[in-house]
Amino acid sequence: MSDRLDSTTEELMVENGRLQQEIATLQQQVERLENTQNSRANIPGQVDVIQVVSDAIVVTDNQFCIQSWNHAAEMMYGWQADEVLGQPIITLLNTLFPNETLEEVGVQFLAAGYWKGRVQHHRKDGTLIPILSAITAIQDENGRMIGSVSVNRDISDQVQIEEALRERTRALEARNEDLTQFAYVASHDLQEPLRMITAYLQLLSQRYSGQLDEEADEFIAFALDGATRMRRLITDLLAYGKIGRNNQVFAEVSLEKVLQQVLANLELRIQETQVSITHDPLPTVFAVKTQMIQLFQNLLSNAIKFRNQTDPTIHISVQREPTRWIIQVIDNGIGIDPDMSERIFTIFQRLHTRQEYPGTGIGLAICKKIVQNHGGTIGVQSQPGEGSIFSFTLPITRETVETAVASAS
Ligand code: ADP
Repeated sequence: MSDRLDSTTEELMVENGRLQQEIATLQQQVERLENTQNSRANIPGQVDVIQVVSDAIVVTDNQFCIQSWNHAAEMMYGWQADEVLGQPIITLLNTLFPNETLEEVGVQFLAAGYWKGRVQHHRKDGTLIPILSAITAIQDENGRMIGSVSVNRDISDQVQIEEALRERTRALEARNEDLTQFAYVASHDLQEPLRMITAYLQLLSQRYSGQLDEEADEFIAFALDGATRMRRLITDLLAYGKIGRNNQVFAEVSLEKVLQQVLANLELRIQETQVSITHDPLPTVFAVKTQMIQLFQNLLSNAIKFRNQTDPTIHISVQREPTRWIIQVIDNGIGIDPDMSERIFTIFQRLHTRQEYPGTGIGLAICKKIVQNHGGTIGVQSQPGEGSIFSFTLPITRETVETAVASAS
C-alpha cells in the first residue's frame, strides 16, 4: 500500500514538475510577446499607420470594389469594414462631383493614374460630407491597373470657412454697390444746383467786381474757387461711379491709338512742362475704349503733375506674359513713400495739400476700378525722390476679360 502511495506521489511530483516547466515556458512566451508588442508600440515605423491616420483610406480592386476600409473610414462614414468589403465604392458613397462629371474624372484618372479633387460623399445615415479625395491607381509590374487607393479627407471646416468668406464678400460687394450707387445719384443730382451757384457767382463777379470793397471781391473769388473745385469733384465722382455699370461697351481697342489721343489731350501740359514721353509698342486689347483713355490719361497726368523739376521723363513699357500684358508707366518724379502705396488707390486719399499739388484724390481710385473692371490688377513701386513705377495688367484673351466682367456684374 505504502509502496503504491509512494509511486503515485512520485508520479504526481514528476507531473507537477512538468507542469511547472510548461507554465514557466508559457510565462516566458507571454513575456516575449508582451515585450515585442511594447517595442512595436515604441517604433513608429511599425505602427499600423493606415489604422491610426485621421484620413479615410480605402483600397479597392480594379473594379473599384472595396478591399480595405480603415478605422477613420468607419468613423467618417458610419459603416464598419465588414459591412462594406466587396461593395463598389462610388455606389456605396453615392459620390457627387461638384466640378466635373464622373466620366471626366474617369478619363483623367485612367490617363494619369491619379486624380485629386473635391467631392461630396454620403454617410451611412444619408448625410453629405465634403471631401478632398486623392485616388491613386495600383499597378502590377506590367503597368496594368490592379486596384486603387483613395485617401479621403473631411474638409467640412474648410468649406464652412470658405462659405462664410463668400457670404461676407457678397455682403461687402452689395454694400459697396449701394455706396457707389448713392455717390453716383448724389453727385448727379448735385450738378444742377451747383451749376446755378457757379453761374450766379460768375454774374456777381462780372457785374460787381471793383464796385464793392476789396474784401467782397476776395470773398466772391473764394466762393467761385470752391464751386469750381466742387464741380471737379462731382465730375470725378460721376466718372468713378460710371465704371462697371451695365452700359459699357467692350471691343478690340488699340492702346497705341488710345495713347495718341491721350497725348493730344495733354499736349499743352506736355509742352509747358517739357516732359519727354517715350513708349514701347502698345498692344490691342479687349476693353472699353473710354476707360482705357481715362486710365492712361490719369496715370500720365499724375506723372506730369508729380514730375521732377529737372529733366522730367516718362516711359511706358510693355511686357507680354502667357496670360496677361504688364504695362508700366515709369516716371522720374518726386516718388512716393512705399508705406502709402496701397492708400493712394483709395478714393480721396492724397499725400499733398491742394496748395502743393491740385487734385481731388480720385484719379488713382478710378484707375484701380477700371483695371479691375477689365480683370487686371494695379500697383506702384516707388521711393521718395526716385520716381515711380505704376504697373497694371490686362488679360490677353478676350475670354478672360469677359469672364472677369461677368463675375463682377
Ligand atoms: P490726385 O492726383 O488728384 O491727388 P490721385 O488719386 O490721382 O489723386 O493720386 C493720389 C495721390 O497719389 C496723389 O495725391 C499723389 O500723392 C500720389 N501720386 C499719384 N501719382 C503719382 C506719381 N506719379 N508720383 C508721385 N506721387 C503720385
